[in-house]
Formats: sequence, C-alpha cells, structure tokens
Amino acid sequence: MSAAPGKRQATPPAAALGVAPALAARLAKLGLNSRFDLILHLPLRYEDETRVTPIAALVDGAFAQVEGVVESAEIQYRPRRTLLVRVGDGSGTLHLRFLNFYGSQVRALVAGKRLRVAGEARSGYFGAEMIHPRTREVAAGAPLPAALTPVYPTTAGVGQAVLRKAIVAAIAAARDDNALDDTAPAIPGHDLVPFAQAVEALHFPRPGDAVGRDPAAWRRMKFDELLAQQLSLKRAYRSRRSARAPAIAAPPADAADALEARLIAALPFGLTGAQARAFAQIGRDLAGAHPMRRLLQGDVGSGKTVVAALAACRAIDRGFQAAFMAPTEILAEQHHRKLSAWLAPLGVKIAWLAGGLKKRDKDASLAAVADGTAQLAIGTHALFQDRVRFQRLGLAIVDEQHRFGVDQRLMLSRKGAAAAEAPYLPHQLMMSATPIPRTLAMTYYADLDVSVIDELPPGRTPVATRLVAEARRDEVVLRIRAACQSGRQAYWVCPLIEESESLELKTAVETHARLSAALPDLAVALVHGRMKPAEKAKVMDDFSRGIAQVLVATTVIEVGVDVPNASLMVIEHAERFGLSQLHQLRGRVGRGTHESVCILLYQTPLSEAARARLKVIYGSSDGFAIAREDLRLRGPGEFLGRQQSGAPLLRFASLEEDLDLIEAASACADAMLAADDPRVARHLERWLGAREAYLGV
Ligand code: ADP
Ligand code: MG
Repeated sequence: MSAAPGKRQATPPAAALGVAPALAARLAKLGLNSRFDLILHLPLRYEDETRVTPIAALVDGAFAQVEGVVESAEIQYRPRRTLLVRVGDGSGTLHLRFLNFYGSQVRALVAGKRLRVAGEARSGYFGAEMIHPRTREVAAGAPLPAALTPVYPTTAGVGQAVLRKAIVAAIAAARDDNALDDTAPAIPGHDLVPFAQAVEALHFPRPGDAVGRDPAAWRRMKFDELLAQQLSLKRAYRSRRSARAPAIAAPPADAADALEARLIAALPFGLTGAQARAFAQIGRDLAGAHPMRRLLQGDVGSGKTVVAALAACRAIDRGFQAAFMAPTEILAEQHHRKLSAWLAPLGVKIAWLAGGLKKRDKDASLAAVADGTAQLAIGTHALFQDRVRFQRLGLAIVDEQHRFGVDQRLMLSRKGAAAAEAPYLPHQLMMSATPIPRTLAMTYYADLDVSVIDELPPGRTPVATRLVAEARRDEVVLRIRAACQSGRQAYWVCPLIEESESLELKTAVETHARLSAALPDLAVALVHGRMKPAEKAKVMDDFSRGIAQVLVATTVIEVGVDVPNASLMVIEHAERFGLSQLHQLRGRVGRGTHESVCILLYQTPLSEAARARLKVIYGSSDGFAIAREDLRLRGPGEFLGRQQSGAPLLRFASLEEDLDLIEAASACADAMLAADDPRVARHLERWLGAREAYLGV
C-alpha cells in the first residue's frame, strides 16, 4: 500500500506508458496509468477489416469494408449540411455521408483517391450508403490486416486509432521484456490458456477465431483478475493480523457490576440466541491484540444496535472510548437518543457530533472526545474528520457500513493510529442489513469476518405486502385513517426521482399537503433530505413519540429508523425502487407486535422488469433471497457503497457466472501467500498497480 489513497497521481509519467505527455494525461482519464493498464484494456468487440466486400454484395445493416475510388464529393446544404462522397469499385457505387465534418475531411476525400471505407452498410434512397464510416487512403494492392480490428472502450478525446497504437506498443514492449509470462501457478482443470496467449488472442484475434470471443482467453483474464482481488484482500487481512490493537478482555462471567451486565439487566427484553452468539464472537475478537474487522450482518429489525451497544460497554468498561457512526443525521440522531436512554442512566458520558451542530456545542464535544471525558461518541461521518482527536479510541462502530464511501472508511480505519498515546488501530465493528450473497462475501468482502444475526426478536408478526395500483390511492388513504384511529402510525414514502432532487422534494411537499387535507383529524408530518438537521430531528422525534401519526418522507427514512408503533407503510411508485431498497423500507414496519402492512403503490402500465422486481419483493421477506435477486438484476454496485471512487470493481469476471473461478482464485491466493510466492507482487502490480490501496477498506 504505497500510493496515498484518495490522491491518485494527477499525471502519470509518460515514460511508463511510452507515449507523449499530452496523450498520457488523456489516457489517465480512462484509468490507463501503466503499461499493463493498457495491455489489460480489453476490446469490447471486433470489426473484420481482413476482407474487402464488393459494393454490390453489401448486406443491409452489416459491418463491412469496401475498397474503391472516390468518384465525386460535394457539400449539400439541404436538408442538413452534409458531406456526400461517392465511391465506386466497379461492382457499384457507395454513398458516404458525413453530417459533422472537418475541412481536413473535405480535402482528403476528393475525386480520384483510393480509399478503404469501413462501417455499417445501409440501403438508402440512392442505393448503398454508409453514415460516418472510417476512411483511409491506401495505395492499390496494399496488404489487408491479418487480425480482426479490436474496438476498445474509450471516451471522447482518445480515438480508437490512437488507443490501438498505444496498446499495440505496450504489448510489443512487454513482449520484448519477457514481461507477459504467467504470474500465477498452473491451475489444472479450469481451461485456462497462458497469459501471453490470452493477450494475443484478445487483442489480435485471427479472423475466424469466433470473432474474438475466445472463451479460454477470457477465462484466463477473469481468473487473473479474481486472483489479484483475492491476493490483495487476503494480504490486507494478514497485515491487519500483524497490526496491534488494544486487547479488551471480557469481564468475569459473574461480574454483575460490569457495564454490559448492567445494560442487559436494564433492557426490557432478553437477547435472542443469535444476538448472544454474535456478541460472543465480537468479544473474542476484542480480547485479541489485533484489530477486529467484523461485519455484523442481520436483516432489518434483527436487533443489531443492542449488540453494538454491548460491545461499546465492554470497551468503555476497560477504559477505552467507543465511537458510533451512522450514515445519516436522522439515523445518528436516533442512535444518540436510544443509546443515551440505555447508557446515560448507567453513568456513561456521551458526546454528540454531527455536521449541523452550533460551533460552541461542537467545540465542547470535540474537547470531551479529546480529553477522554466522553466515553462514547455518536455521530455522522463528522466523527472521523481530521479535527476529531480521540484520547483512547478502542472500538469504532459503523452502522449501515455499505452506505459509506471507501474514502470515509479508510479515514476511519486510520483514526486510532493518529492518537498520540495510542500506537494501535481501533477495533472495528461494521453493521449492515444488506445481506451479502456468498459470491460477494468471497470477493469484495473477503477480508472481513462476519457474524450473522439470523433470527428476529420474538413476537414479531411478519409484514404483509400488498401490491396496489395507483388508481386505488383513495382506498389506501382510508386505510391509513383506520390504522391511525386504532392507535397505530403510518409512513408514506414518496417516489424516488433519481434525475431531480428538487422534483423529489416538490412531490413530497405536495403529497404532504394532499394527505393533510384528506386526513384533517390526523397530524401529518413531513421529512425530507433538504431540511436542516435540527428540523429533521424534531420531526422524527414527534413521530417516534406519537405526536405525529403519519410521516410523509422521501427516501431519507430508508435506513435504520425505528418506530415500533408504526404498522403501515405506503411506498408510492414502488416500481422505481431497487429491491434491497424496498426491503429496507418495508423493514421500518413490523417492528412491534402489531400486524403490519406494506402497500406498494405502482403506476400502470408496468414494464416487464418492474413487474419482475415487484413480484420478488411481494413473494419474499427473506433479505438474502432478495439481495441475491438484486445482485442478479443490478450488479454489485449497490452493495459496495455509493461512492466507490477508484475501487476496482471487477471488469471481466462476473459474480453470477464465474463462481468456479472465484473459488479457484481464492484457493490459489491462499497457496501463493502461504508459499511466499514471489509472483504475488508481480501479479498485483500487473493487475492493480496504484489501485491496490483501495481494496480492503
Ligand atoms: P436493526 O438490526 O435493523 O438495526 P434495531 O437494532 O433497530 O434493528 O432493533 C429493532 C428493534 O428491536 C428495536 O426496537 C430494538 O430495541 C428491538 N430489539 C432488539 N433486540 C431485541 C430482543 N432481543 N427482543 C425484543 N426486541 C428487541
Ligand atoms: Mg439499524
């Protein structure tokens, strides 16, 4: 982990790429910073320029290459300014049309020039035509390329020809240096070709090679990519095992005066078996001298907070500070309220830190955290900004960890190390209600230990889910009235409008007005993302104390809000939400002993995809099954946090299709690390380069 994470090199040394500095800067924008970045920039598809097709034999809609002589070229002004070039090859005439063109093109495409023209043929009004084809002047009899022409992913500013040239040069240079050798041991039984062969097959496929879709070459690339990820995560895991953390021992089993024992005695409920098991696992990690990095995973409502509170008690009891971080102000505020209610009566001193604090209050909190007066600090990511100094941070708890960006998690994991008298890293407990499917657990989360709470507290009634067409909205409003009249409360979640936050806000305000008018005998409150933290807190407080009966909300309530008396949830335009998001939202009800209902209002007509999604959520209340479906439908992005800037997502391997390769790569990484294989460093350099710092955060 040498490069400073968060600060990627602005301009890579052009020498490393073997190109001019200006081009190097443009390649860097594509994430291409090293020779191997170029070599591993694999084509999206291929075009066949190894053959020339007679104009008379062109097939409508098919890619083809034609060779002929320009017969005429003219600029037309109607209906649009167009450069029209006619090319003939003896078999017929092809019309080339350029809508946006440069003076240089006009000069290059003049009568008499011999051209190779490549593009998609169409049969137009005047006969065969191509819109914006690639053209190249050639001498008669010039040889045709022997390999298919790769088409690389690129952005404006770096053309195919330039990119291709840089890649070809990088491959040639690596070949000369004998640097294309395998950096992994042979893996029998997985149909992998040597790396060098895969590079050749994918960048320069010979015509007929199933148009470049050589499966063995792709499998080699996927395997190597997965191996790099495995090596990197496993190495992070090992290096953490060699770092120091405060050993926080459990109190004697019969110590009734221990903080945790007093909390358990004060709780109005007993722990579930799953909660007790998870706490025991955490306790074992805390007692070790190496930093814990444990993910506490449990479906919404499974009771993760109290387990975290017990872990905090243990740290505090031994004289360490604990920190509790939540991704939103609302959630942090709620934890603050709940943990204060549990722990303040036991004498624990708690500091509150969030973005919206008045300067005086913030300074007081900072001082208490710094001098150790505060034993527990609760807040948003404000907790882990540079200005915050802990006196003796022993345990950092992160709720809804997948909501935090990589950079924030990295900042957190370094926090303890910065404390003056504490040359150790704090233990870390992360919580998530988003279950991680097995393939993800094996890949992106391979360096975490996981505890699962697989049991809900007793007495919960499962949430009944109803799909209701938007046209029946009035009936839904009546249902809300009935629920509230019998003493319950209700959420109304406004549609997610990804394109426009202000439109989302407007809808929420209108919905609030309409519901207030339709339910004059009820107190209808509104909460949305643009409110000031103090306003939000007030609204949430009113709702949790039953002063407001209906809460109209944008998706800000998605995570973690806990109001057990709320038994009805309406989600408007449910078809716009992702599956895990719907599951999280639905988890806001069914937290008390009352029969709970979640109504998914949808707009007709439904697309096939939306129908499929709603069916999944209707048919299942199992977070794991839902997460698996979500992963299948939307890919891993949603699980990995919102701002994975620079985190190397897998580009080639697929979590769905390549389970066998994931398993093989995991085993191979273990073997290589155990044997101290010198190829480890080369493999990581080849595949990750400077990106490695982002893994294992
Ligand atoms: P989540 O896992 O979604 O964060 P919470 O920690 O917010 O869930 O817990 C959900 C609700 O269940 C809270 O009101 C909490 O006090 C309650 N709870 C937690 N553990 C138990 C238990 N063992 N028995 C009964 N209620 C519990
Ligand atoms: Mg929670």
